[in-house]
Amino acid sequence: MTRDFATPPLRRGLSRIAEPYVLFPIVAAILLAVVWGSTLSVIKVEYGTADRAASQSTLELAETYEAQVVRVLREIDQSLKFIKFAYESGNGRIDLADLKSKGLLPPDLVFTVAIANARGDIVASSRAPDMTSVAGQEFFTELRNEPVSVSRPLPTRVAGEWKLHFNRRLDRADGSFAGAAIVSVSATYFVSGYETRKLGESGVLAILGRDGIFRVRRTGDSLYFGGVTSYRTAMPVDVDDSPAVTLNRWDHVRRYTSARELYDFPLAVIVGLSEAEQLAPTDDRVNTYLWRAAEGSVALILVLAGLGWMAWKLTQTRVKAYRALQDEIDIRQVAEHALNLRNRAIESSVNAILILDASLQSYPIEYANPAFEAITGYQAGEAIGRGFEFLLGAEHDQAGMQEIRHALRERREGHAVLRNFRKDGRPFWNEFYIAPVRGDRGEVTHYVGVMNDVTEAKSYEEQLAHQANFDSLTGLANRNLLQDRLHQAIATARRDAGSVAAVFLDVDNFKLVNDSLGHDVGDELLKVVGERLKACVRESDTVARLGGDEFVLVLPTKGDAASIENDVIGVVRKLLAQVSHPLVLGDRPIRPTCSLGVSLFPQDGEDAATLLKNADAAMYRAKELGRNRFQFFTSDVNDRIRRRLELESSLRLALERDEFELHYQPQVNLREGGIVGVEALVRWNHPQKGLIGPSDFIGFAEESGLIVQLGDWVLRRACAQNKAWQEEGLPAIPISVNMSARQCEQDDIDQVVARALDESGLMPKYLELEITESISMANPEQSVPLMWRLKETGVALSIDDFGTGFSNLSYLKRFPVDRLKIDLSFVREITTDPGSLAISEAIITLSHSLNLQVVAEGVETQGQLELLGDRNCDLIQGYYFSPPVTADAFAALLREDRRLPPRKITHDAPALIM
Ligand code: C2E
Ligand code: MG
Ligand code: MG
Repeated sequence: MTRDFATPPLRRGLSRIAEPYVLFPIVAAILLAVVWGSTLSVIKVEYGTADRAASQSTLELAETYEAQVVRVLREIDQSLKFIKFAYESGNGRIDLADLKSKGLLPPDLVFTVAIANARGDIVASSRAPDMTSVAGQEFFTELRNEPVSVSRPLPTRVAGEWKLHFNRRLDRADGSFAGAAIVSVSATYFVSGYETRKLGESGVLAILGRDGIFRVRRTGDSLYFGGVTSYRTAMPVDVDDSPAVTLNRWDHVRRYTSARELYDFPLAVIVGLSEAEQLAPTDDRVNTYLWRAAEGSVALILVLAGLGWMAWKLTQTRVKAYRALQDEIDIRQVAEHALNLRNRAIESSVNAILILDASLQSYPIEYANPAFEAITGYQAGEAIGRGFEFLLGAEHDQAGMQEIRHALRERREGHAVLRNFRKDGRPFWNEFYIAPVRGDRGEVTHYVGVMNDVTEAKSYEEQLAHQANFDSLTGLANRNLLQDRLHQAIATARRDAGSVAAVFLDVDNFKLVNDSLGHDVGDELLKVVGERLKACVRESDTVARLGGDEFVLVLPTKGDAASIENDVIGVVRKLLAQVSHPLVLGDRPIRPTCSLGVSLFPQDGEDAATLLKNADAAMYRAKELGRNRFQFFTSDVNDRIRRRLELESSLRLALERDEFELHYQPQVNLREGGIVGVEALVRWNHPQKGLIGPSDFIGFAEESGLIVQLGDWVLRRACAQNKAWQEEGLPAIPISVNMSARQCEQDDIDQVVARALDESGLMPKYLELEITESISMANPEQSVPLMWRLKETGVALSIDDFGTGFSNLSYLKRFPVDRLKIDLSFVREITTDPGSLAISEAIITLSHSLNLQVVAEGVETQGQLELLGDRNCDLIQGYYFSPPVTADAFAALLREDRRLPPRKITHDAPALIM
């Protein structure tokens, strides 16, 4: 569409003129101008013609009237002249009757002829005279100087009749004034004889004397006699052929007026036709013309106004239509904009959006957005026209789909999580919403479907659900699920009069494996154990991992007490055997073993918690009894457990109550036989139970964290005691203190040590710290710097229980240690088990090659002593020389300088080892 501003101003102006509301008034103005122009010019012509006609009529009338009056006057004058002649020639004698009879006088019906003598007395008259004397009359006296005179109209005895007297001077023979000849005539005579029709109501015929006195004047049918006006003004200056309209002074009427002087008498005739009357027909016509023009104009205006109104209406309608169209366009633009926005939003939605045709049973897809393509892998083109259920693959009867179908059937919203398949066949979880889209009449025409790929969330959910019930490492049931299963098994057993065996299993020395070989290897071992356990039981049995190295098996059984026990024993033996198959983990051969505790429903516990607790207690007992075995729950086990629990709770108070004490075990030099060192070993002097060894409480102390405080106390006590002995003057020897794993984890352990030395005043070289092999090897990255920090305080370091862990010996050379202590389990069997001897020998050789001293722990016999001595062991410690003793007892040993009995060297030890 071309816009207005694109066209030049001229064209714009023209096109605007073409608009009816401009064009119609212009046309109207032109037509009105034409109509009125021609009407006015016709009027002008009409008036011109009428004017001329009136002028002409006036002229003609004037000429006729003049001729008539002149004729009468001549007749009168001839009569006067004849009477004068007759009078003068008859010397004053005249016989009027004679003259009359001879027909020399004018007809006396109209005229009266009379003779006045010089005194003015009427001396003769053709009829009875109106007056007997004219002596006083103006017209008579005038004759003394003038030959003729005309009287002003004079009334007669007859009412309404006025007469004019025409007079001629009579002279005597001597020429003196002799009197007057008088012809009298009715003034009316001069103006009668003209039809009013010709003259009109306002036309005038008049005879005016030069004295300005009207002799007679007729206007219409009215007659006037006398009356004065200005003769000069009454006479037109240019008496020509076309009389003009003048205002007649005497009666103030505008008339076409013509006036002519008469020369025989001092008179003039005046003829006037009323302008109004003369132009009346023209006025009528003109009025008609004007009316017609006006009517025509009004009609024209009405027609054009009508047309204009219609055009205006049309324009209005057009404007309205245009506005409506504009509005429509605006609305459409807004709608289009909104639609575009929605389209873009739909297109960029991360959720797949589908529009389904509700008119067909299969609900075919009409539209699919790009997210649909991204999620399913199908192009929109491939999906459009297909029923949306094609995404279900073969799984048509999913529970979620039932809900969607219901919603579709009931024409309502629906929501379900569906398992759908991508184009490449991979399944995905689709959180699907549908909502009906209604048409104008409220009928459902479409459905909009929103797909949300919740595969990740779903798998996470599944993972969570799995995690909630299964152990992530082994895949076995976890504590949660175990509880459920155990409850279930108990409930079933209760109902069916059956039984349930709860088997508590703990991997022996697992901590050792974990600490020395690392957590990865530990985890691996747990997995293997888990698999082996599962392999031993029925599918319906439960194998659970409680955490750490603890497993629980739930074995429902049936039958009499004996057969149940037999069954359970069978399974438990199988478990022991299976678990202890050797395997290689982290390049090391391992033979894992486990300890098991068994409790039975209903005799050992009516509920899950009790059953588990008792199985745990039985397992503990199995450990105490030497591991790699199983133990049924008994009342004896129960007692022990109770005692343990009591111990655990009173341990917390023991520190406050100062119930701990240290015992001291000497270390003696194998060559010289004298005491060269001492190990401080902690004891708990329980108020009721007497002296308790560390193996009964160090474990809890470790677990509860109490070991940190206890360790600190031991350290300070040992330092102080050693210093006290030195101050007593006893030989100065180093004192060994055992360090626990928890203690070693303290960041400021070196400060703790330094403080203990400081407080006691003991020189650092008289303190030695024992760190077990498992602690030192568990995480060398940590233990190497730790050992160096400790070493920097000036103390000596030794590795305790050496040989029991799975040491990576290459670390040894990085440890700043002074001694290795061979674990007493080797020493115990050194005389009977060649393996133990070989290990002991290897440790001694290794130590020496690294410049370390070797201490053999737990030397009880002469044989052991000699073997070790032969193998060049440096120091020994054990009951053979002395058990751990009180401080006083130990001071006594020092004081008396107790020594090993001298020993004869039988072999060259280094040569033997080589
Ligand atoms: P350990 O450090 O290896 O201590 C040696 C253990 O062997 C002591 O047991 C000692 O009484 C025992 N023993 C010594 N000679 C013989 C012998 O000839 N034959 C036999 N069968 N045993 C012998 P005890 O005192 O029961 O201590 C056990 C463990 O408790 C210690 O092993 C040590 O690891 C720990 N322990 C002792 N005191 C403390 C302590 O103050 N702190 C820490 N953290 N642990 C301690
Ligand atoms: Mg020790
Ligand atoms: Mg030891």
